[in-house]
Amino acid sequence: MWSCRSTKVLTTAHSGKYKSYTLSNYKTIPQVATLSEEQKFAIEVVGRVLPFKTNSYVVNELIDWDNVPDDPMFILNFPRKEMLLPHHFDRMADLVRCGASKQEITGLANDIRLELNPHAAGQLDHNRPFLNGERLPGLQHKYKETVLCFPSQGQTCHAYCTFCFRWPQFVGVDDLRFSMRKASQLVDYVKMHPEVTDVIFTGGDPLVMRTKVFASYLKHLIAADIPHLETVRIGTKSLSYWPHRFTSDSDADDLLYLFEEVAASGKHLALMAHFNSPREIETDAVQEAICRIRSTGAQIRTQSPLLRHINDSADSWVDLWKKQVNLGCVPYYMFVVRDTGAQHYFGISLSRAWEIYRESFSRVSGIARTVRGPSMSAFPGKVQVLGVTEVGGEKVFVLQMLQGRNPDWVARPFFAAYDIKASWLDDLQPAFGEKQFFFEKET
Ligand SMILES: *Cc1c(COP(=O)(O)O)cnc(C)c1O
Ligand code: SF4
Repeated sequence: MWSCRSTKVLTTAHSGKYKSYTLSNYKTIPQVATLSEEQKFAIEVVGRVLPFKTNSYVVNELIDWDNVPDDPMFILNFPRKEMLLPHHFDRMADLVRCGASKQEITGLANDIRLELNPHAAGQLDHNRPFLNGERLPGLQHKYKETVLCFPSQGQTCHAYCTFCFRWPQFVGVDDLRFSMRKASQLVDYVKMHPEVTDVIFTGGDPLVMRTKVFASYLKHLIAADIPHLETVRIGTKSLSYWPHRFTSDSDADDLLYLFEEVAASGKHLALMAHFNSPREIETDAVQEAICRIRSTGAQIRTQSPLLRHINDSADSWVDLWKKQVNLGCVPYYMFVVRDTGAQHYFGISLSRAWEIYRESFSRVSGIARTVRGPSMSAFPGKVQVLGVTEVGGEKVFVLQMLQGRNPDWVARPFFAAYDIKASWLDDLQPAFGEKQFFFEKET
């Protein structure tokens, strides 16, 4: 049913079984033997603070081991020394070297984690909705028309990105974990909120869940036949980290039937796929997966942060967007890497981010210019850097909100004093000597 004429039929339908690697078994990866002792030690040290997980597909098909350690896919999954600040690295390195107890290591790891801004963008205390006076821990409702849902079984990924902004969920800092066990709460909440048009399943990666488990959420929502619900989105990295989820996993076909069912119900189904570098969209497996998904009536939109050491060049984005468009995917957001975790390693100044966006955008046809960015998912909203210019002799950033905590803030240009080093909204000051940004006056 989902045979895809546009891609090569995979003769080796499967590049092996999904095999997961973490700190406890990564040395069994044959290619790891080519790393130096120093590189392996850095993995041991950094991997004790930030989550580390990779898998057989990433190792065998995405990473170019001849290009290690500079290969973007290697950097995306494998920890390295510079991902911790030097004083954090040295403290943890001392403990690991002297064979400290598990308890001591965990204690220090937690201390360091708290210094890495784990609650970026106020995720923990804000946007948590209530239903009949009861808090709903698995939902987040920040922007009027969209509700995020974090199914408890989907709060992990097929591999972990070293820049991950959801990392606190993966390191067992339990009170950061969003979870939702009962699909009925989601349905009741959406029913009671006529302003909500979109539900986004997110994680982690909801497509880590078996189809049966995911279906229990999705079918419930569709069966409720809520007239104001227009779009169901699934935020996923599976196309990149485990495309076999859509092709040859034992429940891959069932997943596609489920997509077809959602699309047939009249709701728009969109996969919000996360691709950081062109390699992720080049394999036969991912291309077959995209073709199969699209043939169910679902659409694929793509997003990624702009990451130093991984995709910080216009060439990389032009390549990424063109390949996506050729496969029928729609480029959606380019994000600024959040101020959490290893941001000091991956972060890019806002002025450089805008230059890269501008150059990439100007080099693709209008078909790929659906992408908006560079955008910061900050506390007041999604703030886009529109550009750098001069107003009345003062050099300024021109900004606007693509999403706002208050919908009235959206699409109003505002100005910040130019700062060549600024890499996040918090680093910016209002232009023209003003004390506050317009949205700060209202809160
Ligand atoms: C980005 C985002 C959304 C979705 O916003 P769109 O602009 O509709 O894609 C919803 N909730 C949160 C918290 C977000 O960061
Ligand atoms: S796919 Fe998303 S949630 Fe998962 S590790 Fe990467 S950034 Fe984090």
